[in-house]
Amino acid sequence: MPAPTSSVSPTRIAVIGAGPAGLMAAEQIANAGLAVEVFDAMPSVARKFLLAGIGGMNITHSEGYEQFVTRYGAEQAQLKPLLDRFTPDQLRNWIHELGIETFVGTSGRVFPTDMKAAPLLRAWLTRLKQHGVVFHQRHRWTGWADCSNSQPDAQPPADCSDLTWQFETRDGSLQRQFDAVVLALGGASWKRLGSDGAWRPWLDASGINSKPLVAANCGFEVNWSDYLKKNFAGAPLKQVALSVRGPDGKTVKRTGEFIISEYGIEGSLVYALSRPIREQLMAGNDPHLCLDWLPNLSMDELQKKLSQPRGKLSFSNWLRKKLKLPAIANTLLRDCVEKFDPNNFQQLAQALKAMPIQPTSTRPVDEAISSAGGLCWDEVNEQLMLKQLPGVFVAGEMIDWEAPTGGYLLTACFATGKAAGLGVVEQSKATLG
Ligand SMILES: Cc1cc2nc3c(=O)[nH]c(=O)nc-3n(C[C@H](O)[C@H](O)[C@H](O)COP(=O)(O)OP(=O)(O)OC[C@H]3O[C@@H](n4cnc5c(N)ncnc54)[C@H](O)[C@@H]3O)c2cc1C
Repeated sequence: MPAPTSSVSPTRIAVIGAGPAGLMAAEQIANAGLAVEVFDAMPSVARKFLLAGIGGMNITHSEGYEQFVTRYGAEQAQLKPLLDRFTPDQLRNWIHELGIETFVGTSGRVFPTDMKAAPLLRAWLTRLKQHGVVFHQRHRWTGWADCSNSQPDAQPPADCSDLTWQFETRDGSLQRQFDAVVLALGGASWKRLGSDGAWRPWLDASGINSKPLVAANCGFEVNWSDYLKKNFAGAPLKQVALSVRGPDGKTVKRTGEFIISEYGIEGSLVYALSRPIREQLMAGNDPHLCLDWLPNLSMDELQKKLSQPRGKLSFSNWLRKKLKLPAIANTLLRDCVEKFDPNNFQQLAQALKAMPIQPTSTRPVDEAISSAGGLCWDEVNEQLMLKQLPGVFVAGEMIDWEAPTGGYLLTACFATGKAAGLGVVEQSKATLG
């Protein structure tokens, strides 16, 4: 990273929200020699980033870039130009420059060598402070004084410098004015780590549109029988496949593992399909979620196995011995298949290859790994500046995009943070001449 060209600037610049997106924006601004203050509601910064590191920080993915970009689904058109300026390879180099090595796991996911976020964050914060970034913790932005106190005939703010930013601090409320601000307030999952989505009504009051923040990479509710809940809650289903019919009518099928929980279904395979399942449920449609117990066995092969005599084995034992299925299979067949008859081979084969599971809703957004929805793309220009409030930029999960787990979330947070930070730099250069 180049050393900043000076440490004092006449412009007043703030980043609000010190997660990975906000910190990356602050870094760009400091690198350009501009003074920047970072505000965060919590007593310490980047709490969700640190949590993400607890189970193994998956920071990006090593697959080919063309394939990588497709993971952002419907929002790849908006995100690609930003990712082009901070690709997964550039992200890895940036981590290496902080003195942290990375490795590629068997799945192609990229991790810091020690799997943790804390050493990376420590090195990053040290460098940011050396470059003059000033941090204000326990400073919760609570909206603009101009908006809450506005008279019906008041002029709307022309740009960022017209706004009075209100903060709640330990010493009472604080009002500040800035020439440029990056908002990087995160989504709405894991509220206790700081990002709570409270910003939506404040932007809404200024006519800046956002979509409701909903659960992404999440579990789903299913009405299991009491018997199943009592005896099998927490059971993992391994080497299975799930398929779902998306809103475009196409069926997506993925293999992996997931968990039958007391309230429904959880785990990596469910997260991978959570977008089409959620979109179908929200549209009032049946997502046609089906479980294939034996993805490596064709229907013909399965039927051949099923037609062999069972002898004296109970149905459950026979499923276990002949098909290597766990005890929960028998219970799920009875829970999920209407009028299930173990002696009907046709029905059994069909049920084992495509057992219908009926999710009723997502689990609460607060439990999700990430949230979907957020600030609408048509509210920002290509530098992620709000069109209606020049000088105010946005970055990270608070913008309307989503991605599966696999390092895609953090990569896009960093890339949007970089774009917003560079946007502030360009604007400041233009203002300063
Ligand atoms: C359990 C878990 C594991 C995860 N694992 C991974 C992983 O391995 N790989 C991956 O790519 N992603 C992972 N993620 C997702 C990733 O952590 C997030 O996508 C990312 O942190 C979002 O970054 P952000 O900067 O946009 O927002 P956040 O990290 O949410 O940061 C937003 C910041 O804004 C502050 N803030 C919010 N409102 C205000 C306000 N009004 N005033 C002042 N400050 C405010 C918050 O305190 C917070 O510090 C995981 C998430 C979770 C929950």
